[in-house]
Amino acid sequence: MDSGLIPEFTQIKNHCDIHCRPIYGTVSSGNLCFPRKLNRRLGVYHYNYLYIFVNHYLEILLKNIGKILTLLSLPLQVLLLRMVADRPLWVEHFYTGAVYKYLSQGLRFAFGGLSLPLGQLLFYSLIAGVLVWIGGLVKMRLKKKIGRKQFALDFAFGAIAIVSGFYFLFNSMWGLNYYRQPIQEIVKLDTKVFSTTELEAMSARLIELTNQSRSRLTPDNYNPLLYPLSHEQILAQAPEGYRPLAQKYPALLYSQQSVKSVFVPELMSYFGLAGIYFPFTGEANINMDPPPYMLPETVCHEMAHQIGFASEDEANFVSYLACELSPEPAFQYSGNLMAMRYTLNRLYWEDSTTYYRQIQNLSPGVKCDLEVTRNYWNGFENPIEVAGRVINDLFLKSNNQTEGVRSYNRVVELLMGEYRKNGLVYEQSQKQVFVSQK
Ligand SMILES: [Zn+2]
Repeated sequence: MDSGLIPEFTQIKNHCDIHCRPIYGTVSSGNLCFPRKLNRRLGVYHYNYLYIFVNHYLEILLKNIGKILTLLSLPLQVLLLRMVADRPLWVEHFYTGAVYKYLSQGLRFAFGGLSLPLGQLLFYSLIAGVLVWIGGLVKMRLKKKIGRKQFALDFAFGAIAIVSGFYFLFNSMWGLNYYRQPIQEIVKLDTKVFSTTELEAMSARLIELTNQSRSRLTPDNYNPLLYPLSHEQILAQAPEGYRPLAQKYPALLYSQQSVKSVFVPELMSYFGLAGIYFPFTGEANINMDPPPYMLPETVCHEMAHQIGFASEDEANFVSYLACELSPEPAFQYSGNLMAMRYTLNRLYWEDSTTYYRQIQNLSPGVKCDLEVTRNYWNGFENPIEVAGRVINDLFLKSNNQTEGVRSYNRVVELLMGEYRKNGLVYEQSQKQVFVSQK
């Protein structure tokens, strides 16, 4: 009776008694066990090679199921996102207005009380973790503990696993908001194509508003503005513009504040970043190092990301509205300054002659503040900043923002819709609603 081992399958360790005994019976050799069938005519046992073959590869499959699922998860996620992209109302109701709303509020409630910018620490820890992992692999290769092929396989699989895991967490915890209903439908704006004449009229209006809002802060029109708010006051005042905004548009409700200034903000300036929303902790992390004129609108911009406005143009627009409805004049100035810069920038590309004529109307004080801001950022121009811009561009393009970093500029279309609606006039009564509730 043949009960010997079959060399190519000696690695099979599992017992198949339960499955094969009722059909064939088994023979054991050590901890090996193969199904067999007695050929009574020849008086010998036959092994069922098909069974052994299937069993062998099934075992390999089961052993590597984690790796296989990881490799498949990335294309699967991309496919699912493609399906979701065509259903903005579904995303608006079931994700942004439900899942994301409660998830983000919970995260802000949990981490908002901590003064530490947890997101920033986690971000740097993740980068450090990836570097340590790569270092470990390189070390093993240098010590010849793994071959070249194994090194390449481990690196490729690890990289795919990291990207896939990050992609899943990012999209489930925030990224789906890129596919929500456009804000012009939520706040009812007419954003059809505008003419250069309209753009010129809106630029003139924004220059007027910016000059006026600065003159409410200081009578000094020839020196950079001595900012009336400390960094802490800017952070504390930021939600106040959102309250009257939410009374008008419930989708713009902001609650559970979690906005923090980052450690070593100069590092963010080297990357050309004024703020980052970190969806894994629900925190808005702000770079407080730049001149203060833009800080209120930057804080309100990151808060707009927190309440699910993922697109940069939409976050800019929500920030503008929150600044204008804020009872704090320093916020109004910051919002006007941001809207004016984007609008004048667009005017420059559409009609540079009109642009140069318009900027003559800027007050000397506003020019001073713009120059201080420009000089600050010029001081951080470096290859890392350029690389940071390229990465941000790719990131936005991979998230349904076809224009990449240029999508920030599309706030002009939204501002034009607002200008057509109300001439950028915000009744004092809207702000008093909030003041009377304080
Ligand atoms: Zn942003």
